Amino acid sequence: MTYIPTPISSYYLSTAISYGNLFKEIFSPLLAVSSSTDLSRTIYLQVNNNQIWKRCLNSNHREKLNSELRLRLMYDRYFDVTQELRDLYEDKDGLRKADIQTLSGPNEFNEFYDRLKQIKEFHRKHPGEICVPMSAEFEKYKEMRERPEEANAVLIDFSDEEGYGRYLDLHDVYKKYLNVKGVPRIDYLTYISFFDRLYDISRDKKGIAYKAYLEELLGYLENFVSRARPIVDLEEETKEALAKFETQWTQGTFPGWGREAASALAHGGAHLDLTAFTAWEELASLGLDRLKSALLALGLKCGGTLEERARRLWATKANHSKSFAKTAAWGHVPPALSEKLKEIATLEARIYRLSELVKEHREATIENVQRRQARIGFERDEDDTDADKDATGAENGQNEEDDDIPYNPKNLPLGWDGKPIPYWLYKLHGLNMYYSCEICGNQTYRGPKAFQQHFSEWRHAHGMRCLGIPNTIHFAHVTKIEEALALWQRIRTMKEAERWRPEVEEELEDSVGNVVSRKTYEDLKRQGLL
Ligand SMILES: [Zn+2]
Repeated sequence: MTYIPTPISSYYLSTAISYGNLFKEIFSPLLAVSSSTDLSRTIYLQVNNNQIWKRCLNSNHREKLNSELRLRLMYDRYFDVTQELRDLYEDKDGLRKADIQTLSGPNEFNEFYDRLKQIKEFHRKHPGEICVPMSAEFEKYKEMRERPEEANAVLIDFSDEEGYGRYLDLHDVYKKYLNVKGVPRIDYLTYISFFDRLYDISRDKKGIAYKAYLEELLGYLENFVSRARPIVDLEEETKEALAKFETQWTQGTFPGWGREAASALAHGGAHLDLTAFTAWEELASLGLDRLKSALLALGLKCGGTLEERARRLWATKANHSKSFAKTAAWGHVPPALSEKLKEIATLEARIYRLSELVKEHREATIENVQRRQARIGFERDEDDTDADKDATGAENGQNEEDDDIPYNPKNLPLGWDGKPIPYWLYKLHGLNMYYSCEICGNQTYRGPKAFQQHFSEWRHAHGMRCLGIPNTIHFAHVTKIEEALALWQRIRTMKEAERWRPEVEEELEDSVGNVVSRKTYEDLKRQGLL
């Protein structure tokens, strides 16, 4: 909006007030507000009570989210304007006072005409310039609400998997989780249900990789909440979570970080009170092992000769008495280490709060992933129904969003993540080629691999049994019934020829040692020639 000079700067003030009133007007059905000063508080309470959230449950998801986003934008602007209004009232720079003084002073008419001249000049320079009243902006919002296609517009970016803010897409974070050493190996579905059970992970596994993972998870959750639940005040939530965490931390009751667990963390090292010693030589008298464990307890390097170790430990004495008292309440964790641990625990505390906020989304995600996995299994079994499904998919275009079918114009098969596999992989496996087999009742197989395998599978074996043909290696790649029967006939004849026929093939010897067939032998014998 262009700033146009006005005779009195309180014009701005009145605009801000009218803005507040307009805001009230628009949300009066939603909020019972008595005075504008209560407004921000009331909205905040409303948000916290989830009333708006529940009120909208029955409406279309996208519409609901968009209206939440608009509400958030308005709330933010309202807040800014209120802030400005307050600053104007408080009049810290004394401008308002000076303004009133010049207007009510002895030269009020001069002042008035001066300003009028300024305004006129402005309009001469910028003809046709009008000041757009703020109500025009609200009119726009009102129209938007009335037009369904705008209410349904895509205002916020979500990935395919997130289904416009209905589900979480934790795949990237999950990969990061798998890279953390020593955490339980779980599948994606289990991970969604368990990702906030950070207190179950043993404390010695919580290192640098774990921290990086937590940061990624936190980043994603914050980003998701800001998009999927725009009216939640993230800053406020974080502040509350941190305050709660501070109390729990000092009391040692933060889940997974209790005091009893703390001492176990000191790498098995035993703390050494250095106040009793006056020189490093005295320390050296304790021996290599004792020094090693004392250094470990401080989280320092523990190798080296006796002297090196003693000196290293002695060097810590200066600031030691202080830190010893400080860590005493904390088991035997040195302050530097304890700071690092606290950082990690802080991240955890914030994640706990955020996972409470996305509880419903998480449940929906679990259902969605289960449904999708079931569908993938089904598709593997029933490849041939793909075509039918495509047809019904086109019919139910309206429900496409609800069923969450990813964009897949080439009808590629879905991979493990529920998304279509890459086209090159599709080509590599020759999945664009279909093979049909008459013996299997004209069943179609997708890709050479599936086709090759099917010859040893139940359907083909059954078909062969029905034809009375043994399903042997000879019949691989034969798909026509006629061909199979012809081949079987030929094999049978060959077998017939190979068979042992004693009346023809049996050999005998006559009296002089000549080898003759049984038939000749019999004849000779009958004629008495032997
Ligand atoms: Zn077959």
